[in-house]
Amino acid sequence: MMLSLKLSNVRTISLFLACWISISAAFSTGHGPRIHRQALMPTILVHGGAGDIDEDMVIRKFNGTKAAVRQGYQVLMDGGSVMDAVMETIKVLEDNPAFNAGKGAALTQPGHIETDASIMRGSDLAAGSVASVSGIRNPIVAARKVLEQTPHVQLAGDSASNWAVDQGCETEDEDYFITLHQYEYWLQWLADHNMTKSTSGEYKTMNQIETMDKWKNQKSTVGAVAIDADGNIAAGTSTGGLTGKLPGRVGDTPGIGHGVFADNDSVGVSGTGVGESFMKVGVARRVSYLVEKTGLSPNDAITETLDYMAQRVGGDGGVIAIDGAGNLGIGWNSNQMSWAYGRNGELHYGVNRGEDFVEDI
Ligand code: ASP
Repeated sequence: MMLSLKLSNVRTISLFLACWISISAAFSTGHGPRIHRQALMPTILVHGGAGDIDEDMVIRKFNGTKAAVRQGYQVLMDGGSVMDAVMETIKVLEDNPAFNAGKGAALTQPGHIETDASIMRGSDLAAGSVASVSGIRNPIVAARKVLEQTPHVQLAGDSASNWAVDQGCETEDEDYFITLHQYEYWLQWLADHNMTKSTSGEYKTMNQIETMDKWKNQKSTVGAVAIDADGNIAAGTSTGGLTGKLPGRVGDTPGIGHGVFADNDSVGVSGTGVGESFMKVGVARRVSYLVEKTGLSPNDAITETLDYMAQRVGGDGGVIAIDGAGNLGIGWNSNQMSWAYGRNGELHYGVNRGEDFVEDI
């Protein structure tokens, strides 16, 4: 592992890449910037959650995001679609207990697992998502099935779980999903709210949670954005949500335009953070809109959007994005965000501002 680029902060990565990649963008009447694509370098970009990352989790985040990027990059190198790359990448993260998605998902207030996931295809804006599903090992697979097998965009709750099982999605008992560190976060959450395991189902104190800051540091949601040589983009996001959430609570992750968005004419986006804040300002769609209509770079669009969110509704988090010209955006307004990407045979990754570790894929 070596530090290849002495960049002052991670935001400058896309400026660097913008010079590196030959691009041209022109304005066409009524549609804002349209992207004239030249040969692009296939890229897979992931995040593994934003917030305060425990010291002992950092190495697990590095290893997990790197393994996921390697998987997705291989799919792209083998000629797989961007949808395949995003799904396979997220499956690796969902199977890794270091992330709050699939195995390792956060526990609800009564101590159960309910997961959300979404995927979107930028060529035709096709989207699929599942919300509050239980027992599905890889919710991202179920989300893709919604996209491909139904006329709908989102299925939710037990009906969605049952449907996913009928569609052949792999299942697991609840014990499979519950990791020790999430169990401990849950116990801590209960203690912070004067609750115990036996009262956790009574929802006594939920009205005392006056601010979403209570959930500030509990995020390890995962997401991926991919672009191929033809400029096709896909994005996906998967989460267990927030520790202590009420049963049935749905965050931004499965919301198209909130925790995910993909449009070949603008950007692919995946977010992580306090879902209630992301939903109120439509984070992913706002990033996309800013890139498409104002010509902002993905990094600047992310910064603008997170600043706007913080001012209007509070809350923090992070966003990754790739625009149709291949420019990357990686930004967060929380303390840290786990991210990694693979491009041109190189794997870049980091969690702190200014980090850009690089190694061969
Ligand atoms: N955005 C997710 C949610 O609110 C949480 C996260 O990103 O960690 O469900």
